[in-house]
Amino acid sequence: MLLSTSPGRLAAWSGGDAGRTWLPLLAAGAWLLPLLVAPLAWRHGRSRLVHLALVQSGLAWAITQAPWFSWTQEPSATSLALVLPLLVGLLAATRELPLLSWRGLVRTGWLVGALLLVGSVLGDHPRLALLGLSEGGLALARLDPLVALSWTALALGGLAALRALTHRRRPEAEAGPTLVLTMLAGWCALAVPAIAPEGTWAVGSQLFLLSGTWALGFGLHDLSWRRSHLDPLTGLLSRQGLEEGLAQLGRRHAIAVVDLDHFKKVNDRHGHEAGDRVLQAVAGVLRGCPRGRAYRAGGEEFVLLFPGLDVEQALPLVEQLRGEVKALRVAIPRLPGRKRQPAPLKVSFSAGLASGTGRPDGPAVLAAADEALLRAKRAGRDQVALERRSKPRRRERKTA
Ligand code: GH3
Ligand code: MG
Ligand code: MG
Repeated sequence: MLLSTSPGRLAAWSGGDAGRTWLPLLAAGAWLLPLLVAPLAWRHGRSRLVHLALVQSGLAWAITQAPWFSWTQEPSATSLALVLPLLVGLLAATRELPLLSWRGLVRTGWLVGALLLVGSVLGDHPRLALLGLSEGGLALARLDPLVALSWTALALGGLAALRALTHRRRPEAEAGPTLVLTMLAGWCALAVPAIAPEGTWAVGSQLFLLSGTWALGFGLHDLSWRRSHLDPLTGLLSRQGLEEGLAQLGRRHAIAVVDLDHFKKVNDRHGHEAGDRVLQAVAGVLRGCPRGRAYRAGGEEFVLLFPGLDVEQALPLVEQLRGEVKALRVAIPRLPGRKRQPAPLKVSFSAGLASGTGRPDGPAVLAAADEALLRAKRAGRDQVALERRSKPRRRERKTA
């Protein structure tokens, strides 16, 4: 049986004395941890995740600490389950804003206001659902809570997910999965008592709340990993990723350095945006390389790592990519002031390929591939050159 006061309810949750010591800690963690995560989100400039942390903390507080909250009085759980997706859905529908701008502060204001309103309405009238303020709403709140929970969470969660999937702007799209996961975890925390056996549901509920906070923390970690490892223009792994990739190469591998030919002319003739489109199109081809991993090393230079392959095996793969890139026709935007739409661009690359087999030092292999690339450029571009295991370099290595 559920009790309506906090300590009593905790005892009922635990299903016995043993839980009394650790369950309050779990309960405190459920609402405190999101508040500890919030400054990290702020540091990353993600105001919506700061606000999500506030919602998450408010929900956890309501479930674990609020004296008015009780699952036996369905309206309070139902109301929270309706309010949670509503707030998260609104967050998903708004843009990333600087937290301390006036619009950011307004959003903090309405969010805190909404949380306080829910608290006060439910606090003063524990039997009155938020939607029960009106006659129609009262009927809605009397619905089986699971049914009400399901359709609201599904509808709004689906909306948020759709937005996350379809949004073209990066900051908005990046936060989408975190918003959806956190909301679903909160929804499960509210729904679990209806399906789990008595004595276990409290712990299940807490764990769902904590998993919501985990989703928030993971979302932030993912964000910082993406920033440090992914190139924002092409989505390929960038320099940092390359260094980690080089460090993980085994005894047998090959490395190719790929550089676009006469790329500066593309920028000069058609503008920087056209150049960016070319880089994205080439990256799309390189990403599809079978048995090789593509990185954007910088500018119009890419690196392909082939773990477990000899040069003889990697060469046809690089040649195949060269053919695919030559077959590209990249549509580019018309520059302002020009009358005609420019024809799609053709592009080619030169590459140097070096073997790392029996040579465990990744950066040295990369340097050898770079040297081969220079030869490919000097020989007329649009070709792949193999490293020359030249005598001077051998001598250098002996003396080193
Ligand atoms: P080569 O065949 O000898 O490699 O000649 P290149 O013109 O390709 O090489 P160069 O090093 O002279 O020029 C590289 C150009 O790449 C210069 C720079 O403006 C451009 N670039 C570097 N990064 C980007 C980028 O992110 N976007 C665009 N649009 N251009 C870039
Ligand atoms: Mg170039
Ligand atoms: Mg270059």
